[in-house]
Amino acid sequence: MKRILRAAACTLCAGVLCAVLVACAPGVETSLQEKGSPDAAESSVRPYPRTTEYVSGDNVVYFNGTSGSTPLVCYLDLESLQAHVLCSVEGCTHSTQACPAYGGGHLFLTPDALYSYRSCDASYLELGSAPALGTLRVHALDGSESHEVAKVDDGWTLGMFAQSDTAIYGTLGSDLAMLELATGHETILQRNFTQNNYFDNYHLAQIGNDLLLPVWVGSPLEEVVFYSLSTSGELTEIRRAELNTGVPYEGKYYYADEQGRIYVLDVLTGESTLFCDELQYTQPDGTVRFSGQGAMYVVSGHLMAERTTPQEMPDYASKPTRLFAIPLEGGPASEILLSDFYHTYDNPLKVRAETPAGLIVVGDRVSTTYVDTGKDGSLDSREGSEERMALISPEDYFASNPNFQFLDFTLQPG
Ligand SMILES: [Zn+2]
Repeated sequence: MKRILRAAACTLCAGVLCAVLVACAPGVETSLQEKGSPDAAESSVRPYPRTTEYVSGDNVVYFNGTSGSTPLVCYLDLESLQAHVLCSVEGCTHSTQACPAYGGGHLFLTPDALYSYRSCDASYLELGSAPALGTLRVHALDGSESHEVAKVDDGWTLGMFAQSDTAIYGTLGSDLAMLELATGHETILQRNFTQNNYFDNYHLAQIGNDLLLPVWVGSPLEEVVFYSLSTSGELTEIRRAELNTGVPYEGKYYYADEQGRIYVLDVLTGESTLFCDELQYTQPDGTVRFSGQGAMYVVSGHLMAERTTPQEMPDYASKPTRLFAIPLEGGPASEILLSDFYHTYDNPLKVRAETPAGLIVVGDRVSTTYVDTGKDGSLDSREGSEERMALISPEDYFASNPNFQFLDFTLQPG
């Protein structure tokens, strides 16, 4: 195991928690096997959600709303299915910065509070002014209070990819960096990390309590290096391999070959096994039905694999992409036959967010006419569609039963 960041991580330890000091002390280094099993009592680094529109809490889903032009943190109560402003101040009109819900942007939920990061407001930008800064705020979960934690770098939005209960992790420019939630303190973990490394913010997973970070190296990119990133910001190389691009999940890495077979690599042991060969579908005349490459991700205990219909196939025109779900514990692949008709294509229905009450999906699209005002004041109308979000249980989703419970994100008063 190669220690890349010992010096930086230990410098960081000097000023923070005892728990972090222990983690850095020689002789108590976490073994690879320990990395494999998460410890619920310890804070862990988890990937930032693939879709950041909805941040799932215990019985609520947080989202960004507005009142007039005031940005507000709002939540959908998953029991009543009603949307509210995260404000419990009597008589508050939620229209000024004094409202506890004021703020929003990127939302980070911890057991104690909801943090919001908002990149700089254009109105702060004046000629010759100091560099633009973002704002980190903390909101009490009962909506009673909120305040600004700190002004921080404005460049976090593009790079943030993970969080723990105490920090946000991401890239600032080309550096790997960490932002402490309680103080807004920013630490560069490794300079120029992204200069010769390529990684996808949305293809990260957990490995025990650490973040599993697959990074592509080489020119052309041909080798994947698996790193673990600890809560204290320590980066450790676990393994290198020459693999196709894939998706990590809980210490495993799922990847497909050119023929569409999916394999799974155990990142700790280095052992690769065949996971699914059902998507390698060949026509009687020998033409391959689905190409091997396509997006993969994990939803509710299933590996989701998108497959492109080859252009020469008759159903290409109406259904260019198909989506399959394979249980992680093993079992047959099932095709998601629920549709999201978007831009007249029959797209397979994708999951926007997982919540304890079910999966959030686009249950329907309603045709709307949008009216835009041009610079010269002329009105221009265009046709579009408005998403109607819905909840569906994982069982119904994977069985393609259109059992939707439609959600209303209209804010309730009080
Ligand atoms: Zn308010």
